[in-house]
Amino acid sequence: MVKRVAVIGAGISGLVSIKCCLDEGLSPVCFEQGDEIGGIWAYHDEPCETNGAAIYESLVTNTCSEMTCFSDFPFPEETPVYLRTVGVKSTDWGTVEQE
Ligand SMILES: Cc1cc2nc3c(=O)[nH]c(=O)nc-3n(C[C@H](O)[C@H](O)[C@H](O)COP(=O)(O)OP(=O)(O)OC[C@H]3O[C@@H](n4cnc5c(N)ncnc54)[C@H](O)[C@@H]3O)c2cc1C
Repeated sequence: MVKRVAVIGAGISGLVSIKCCLDEGLSPVCFEQGDEIGGIWAYHDEPCETNGAAIYESLVTNTCSEMTCFSDFPFPEETPVYLRTVGVKSTDWGTVEQE
């Protein structure tokens, strides 16, 4: 029987946990309190009390893209070393620029 695994939160940690569970043939079920995935990497135009901490428009990552990527899902080669938000949703990595 396939084991079911509860994953709490759909931030990066939760998403990686889901992926690892699937890789191992487990059946993950993720519980996210918010209405979107991404955790602090989900960008919002306006700060919102219920969203908690989040990236902001002027953010520049303090970890390089080579180390920040998933080992089996790297950023495209042309990705800048340090990513920054440019007033876009954080899922739109294609529009990030280098400082
Ligand atoms: C401004 C800022 C900049 C950062 N910059 C970097 C950086 O450059 N490089 C780097 O490596 N790290 C950076 N970090 C650190 C960042 O915390 C981690 O990179 C990573 O996002 C943490 O992911 P997480 O999934 O553990 O947590 P989160 O992203 O916080 O996700 C947790 C998720 O769990 C949900 N949740 C919480 N409690 C419950 C519950 N009881 N039930 C259901 N759902 C729940 C939340 O709603 C959220 O979606 C930064 C953090 C901040 C705040």
